[in-house]
Amino acid sequence: MKITATVFYSFQICPREAWFYYHHISSDSDHEYLALGRLVHETSYQRYRKEIFVDQLLKIDLFRGELVAEVKKSSRHIEAARLQLAYYLYYLKHEKGLEFEGILLFPKERKTERVKLTPELESKIESLLNTMRPILAADKPPPVRRTKYCKSCSFRDFCWSDEET
Ligand code: SF4
Repeated sequence: MKITATVFYSFQICPREAWFYYHHISSDSDHEYLALGRLVHETSYQRYRKEIFVDQLLKIDLFRGELVAEVKKSSRHIEAARLQLAYYLYYLKHEKGLEFEGILLFPKERKTERVKLTPELESKIESLLNTMRPILAADKPPPVRRTKYCKSCSFRDFCWSDEET
């Protein structure tokens, strides 16, 4: 079962959203938040970053050749971002035999944070993967559950078509 970085990240915010991505159900690609995220990602730290694809699952940025980097438009979902980056490090270690440290980059906030794959973090990633697998493999998505993230979610019209978010 191949879990992409996008699915992994989304699951930390909303399992239903992750299920959509896992089953290749796209939201509106022109959604303002996604567009902003892409813009920040494409224009930040260009001199220092090199994009690398791994097994068609992960698209990682190698920052200054030594750190696996993840660029985010804001630190709003910082815990999900930490776990996503830890998932990159975990995958590279266990599937490729490559050990890296990571860095989160928040260019709009001029903020960075280093992430190290500690044994505790590795256990957490394994536990999360075990939780995610049956939910993602299910025939139906998890039920709609209103959270503070629904308002800025690209699936909001789909989930809440009859209501205001
Ligand atoms: S709108 Fe809310 S419930 Fe629906 S996928 Fe997005 S975050 Fe999840």
